[in-house]
Amino acid sequence: MICLGIESTAHTFGIGIVDDKLPKEKKIIANVKDSVTTKTGGIIPAKAADHHVDVCDAVLRNALAKANLKLEDVDVIAYSQSPGIGHCLRIGAMFARIISLKYNKPLVGVNHCIAHLEIGRLVTEAKDPVLLYLSGANTQVIAYEGKKYRIFGETLDIGIGNFIDTFARELGLGFPGGPMVEKLAKAEVENNPKENKTPHYIELPYCVKGMDVNFGGILTNLKHKIKKMNEAREKAHHTPFTHETLCYSAQETVFAMMVEVAERALAHCDKKELLLGGGVACNKRLQEMCDKMCKARGAKMFVPANEFLIDNAAMIAWLGLLQYKAGDKLKIEDAGIKPYLRTDDIEVTWR
Ligand code: AMP
Ligand code: MG
Repeated sequence: MICLGIESTAHTFGIGIVDDKLPKEKKIIANVKDSVTTKTGGIIPAKAADHHVDVCDAVLRNALAKANLKLEDVDVIAYSQSPGIGHCLRIGAMFARIISLKYNKPLVGVNHCIAHLEIGRLVTEAKDPVLLYLSGANTQVIAYEGKKYRIFGETLDIGIGNFIDTFARELGLGFPGGPMVEKLAKAEVENNPKENKTPHYIELPYCVKGMDVNFGGILTNLKHKIKKMNEAREKAHHTPFTHETLCYSAQETVFAMMVEVAERALAHCDKKELLLGGGVACNKRLQEMCDKMCKARGAKMFVPANEFLIDNAAMIAWLGLLQYKAGDKLKIEDAGIKPYLRTDDIEVTWR
């Protein structure tokens, strides 16, 4: 069976194709995307939706060419139905309905957060992991218990990626800011051959509330520090902070918070596997911190390749296929969007 998946929850429009006849490591036969990037500023919903409209045909053609297929050969169409930015989700849903009507193919609506977890189970050896899902808008610790993917901890305000991107924007870096912040944080470690070779860490608020986290206070604190740094620079005064120090300190703080709640979730759920997901999980320092924590408690960490960590459509196709085989199918009139649907609202029928 061949499933074509459409991703359009936020900055990325993607088409992925999976074929479940093939062996595990070969099932994904296309994973093509085009993402919004900016030099200044973040994602503006209406502009991101315009971007998706502009690129959707080309992305589809590329994905079909990559898989060497025609739309007639596809058995099921899946699309990201929840959660996400309404403007963006609507483009993917409409594109899915058009293909479904034109080629008479069944439709499946997929939850983007659960898709991150299921693609991780496909492309790694993880069987029943705790997912540390760190992306732009979403920050959740998820695990399977009693027929649902439960949220054991999450952000109480913005997502960790939004935090990093906003902080990066304040420093004058473009979108996405994560890779630049990682680079500058690394420079703080490597360019610091001072006496004891330790990078300079500036204390920031540490915001863990039980199993939940929040980033607003840390962001405000950093904004004040950036303002002070810029004012000192303008007056050619010595500045107590550099870009590198701030990036390093921000990363160390928020990653430590996430590792803490991930560890507690492993303990509470009595699970032995940690799976990383979401674009922020591309960060090598985060991976290193998670790996240390897992080793210390006899657990195993799994990290999919970057193309399956960031938003991608292969994961939508894969979960769509699992759902369809479990009997899930949408009527065309029900194939709308659910921007606010939560991970634990979904009845898991496929495992
Ligand atoms: P997603 O929404 O899952 O595609 O993830 C996008 C987010 O991942 C954006 O906020 C990026 O800034 C962030 N990101 C991408 N690469 C990195 C990285 N190396 N370190 C930290 N964050 C990253
Ligand atoms: Mg995502």
